[in-house]
Parts: sequence; structure tokens; C-alpha cells
Amino acid sequence: MVRGDMKYKIATIGSHSALQILKGAKDEGFETIAICIKGKEKIYESFKVADEIISISGYSYFKDIQNKLLNRNAIIIPHASFIAYIGHEGVEKLKVPYYGNKKILKWESDRSLERRWLKQANLKLPKIFSNPQDIDRPVIVKFHGADGGAGYFLAKNHKDFKKKIKLHHKKRYVIQEYILGVHMYAHYFYSPITHELEIMGFDKRYESNVDSLGRISARDQMALPKEQVDPSYLIVGNMPIVVRESYLPKYMEMGQSVIEVSKKIASPGLFGPFCLETIITPEGEIICFEISARIVAGTNPYVNGSPYTWLKYNEPMSTGRRIARDIKQAIQQGKLKDVLG
Ligand code: ATP
Repeated sequence: MVRGDMKYKIATIGSHSALQILKGAKDEGFETIAICIKGKEKIYESFKVADEIISISGYSYFKDIQNKLLNRNAIIIPHASFIAYIGHEGVEKLKVPYYGNKKILKWESDRSLERRWLKQANLKLPKIFSNPQDIDRPVIVKFHGADGGAGYFLAKNHKDFKKKIKLHHKKRYVIQEYILGVHMYAHYFYSPITHELEIMGFDKRYESNVDSLGRISARDQMALPKEQVDPSYLIVGNMPIVVRESYLPKYMEMGQSVIEVSKKIASPGLFGPFCLETIITPEGEIICFEISARIVAGTNPYVNGSPYTWLKYNEPMSTGRRIARDIKQAIQQGKLKDVLG
């Protein structure tokens, strides 16, 4: 993408949703760069989404290639693996132009700040038990740091909690009410250029071993060693969902409200892609247990667009492509700084 004599390129780390981000950028006319760990380049070559691949021996070397990226006028698109590998502090120190508001990162990564944000937005949240002795219903115990839910455990009461927490020495955790219902990950996009909130799609996750437990009867589960039937939540893939249409207004309202509060807590607020991780109960209540303030891998099934983006755009529009279009429109209108954090 060219403005004046400036030619911008789109870059990201080769992992998570990079295929979709790079393909979307190419569809919008950008040249692309994939930053890959040595040995992991093949997939990005094979799908022809990267005009250039920069290989590094480990993510700690990312800082060493910043000048290369600056010389190429690269704009970095963050995804969950990017944030996890570079770390929040690393992201804040980045010299390379970065799509998104860096100030929002601390609000999503710190569970108490995240809760304050979602509460202010009037979202329904799972109850938190600050004192384990108060546990009066099934709970899920989560550890700090987004590791895709690996290691989380369920407890039915205080005694059960005490027994299980012993295996997780000195880790910081939060005890959350376990919500029974179906999981619905809602993907949004908010553009600071059009000032419009868009629903991009929905997905559910495929998690090991929790999604396999139901395939064996309770009798056979009882026969298995305990470690094998303790649920774990290692994410291994995502499946597309179309939500019942009557829930859409509520999802729109929730997304809008999250955006409005974000403008107050971390000006200019959250923009670009984000996801509300929700559970819909048998009573039809939508409970939100987490927000991801960037592209989620749940948008990956929609490389060619989702039913919702098809309704709106009438052309293939993935979340990756929507990001590139936001940047393109910002460049064309001389507002690039409005989309960089
Ligand atoms: P990520 O950052 O990748 O979203 P994480 O490590 O923060 O992952 P969560 O998304 O909070 O983990 O939770 C992992 C999984 O645990 C969820 O996908 C869901 O299956 C389950 N889960 C989390 N919170 C609840 C809850 N309150 N009730 C029921 N299930 C839950």
C-alpha cells in the first residue's frame, strides 16, 4: 500500500492467525512479511501469504530485527501468540508501528482490571470466590497468564479445592463460578476510522480433554485413572457457529458497551478486532467470562468471510482482511496514527 513515497507492509509472527492476517493484507494490496522461528517457515511459503520471511532463532530475537522492519515501513499486527511471546512489556517498548491500542493490554491481561472493565460495561460475569471457604457451587480454578486453559481444574466444594490446589504450588489463581451452558465466542471489529462496531462471527473451541470426556459413558469414566478424567482445556482448534438470530441485538449491545467503557479507561479505547468469550445458559442468559482485545484464532475458520461479513460486505471479508482495510482507509485519509498504538 503506497501513500506519497511511503510504501507500507504488513508484518506478523508466523503463528496463531498469521495465515489469515497475511492473506487479508495481500487481498487489500499490501506486501507482507512473516517473522518465523527457524524451521517453521514452510507453512507460510506453502500458502504463499508472505512476500518475505524473516527467520529468527527464538522470540527473544524479535527486538534485533526491529530496524529491518522499520526500514521496510512494516506495520505489526498483534495476535495472542505475538503478545505471549513478546510479552506486554516488550510490546510497550516496540519501535515498529503497531496496529491497536497498547494501553488496553494491561486491562485484558490483569484479571481484576478486566473484571472492572466488563462490570462497568454491565456484562453478566461469573461469580468470583475471593475466599475458598465460601465456595458453595461448582467452580473453575484458573491460573494467571493466558496459557489456553491448560492446567485449570474444577472443584465441587472447599474440601475438593484444598485437595486439588496442593498440586499447583505458589501459582496465582482465581476461583470462578463454573457456568453450565454452551460456549459462544463472539468476534467483533470496531473501526476508529468508520466509528462502527461490526459483528464478524462466532465460534466454539475444541479443547482437550474436556471435549472428549462425553464420548465415554460415566461407567467407563469411573474405570479410568483419575488424571485422565480430570478435565483440561488445551485448545486444539475452533469450529464455526451461527448464533440464534434473536441473540444478535444483545451481542451487539454488549460489544458496544465494552467499546464505550474502553474509551474512558484507556483512551482512545479499544479498536480493531476483539472477542467476548461467553456462555449461554439454559435460561438464555449470556455470561461473559473473558475478553480478548485482539484477533482470536476463532476467526480462522472464516478466511473467506463468515455469514455475517458476507451479509455486510458482499465480498470475502476475513478479520485479517478487515484489519488491512482499516489500515488502508487510514492511510488513504491521512489518519494512519489513529490506528497505531
Ligand atoms: P485464552 O486466553 O486463550 O482465552 P485462558 O487461559 O484465559 O485462555 P479461559 O478462556 O479463561 O482460559 O478458559 C479456558 C476454558 O475454560 C474455556 O474455553 C472454557 O472451556 C472453560 N471456562 C473458563 N471459564 C469458565 C466458566 N466460568 N465456566 C465454565 N467454563 C469455563
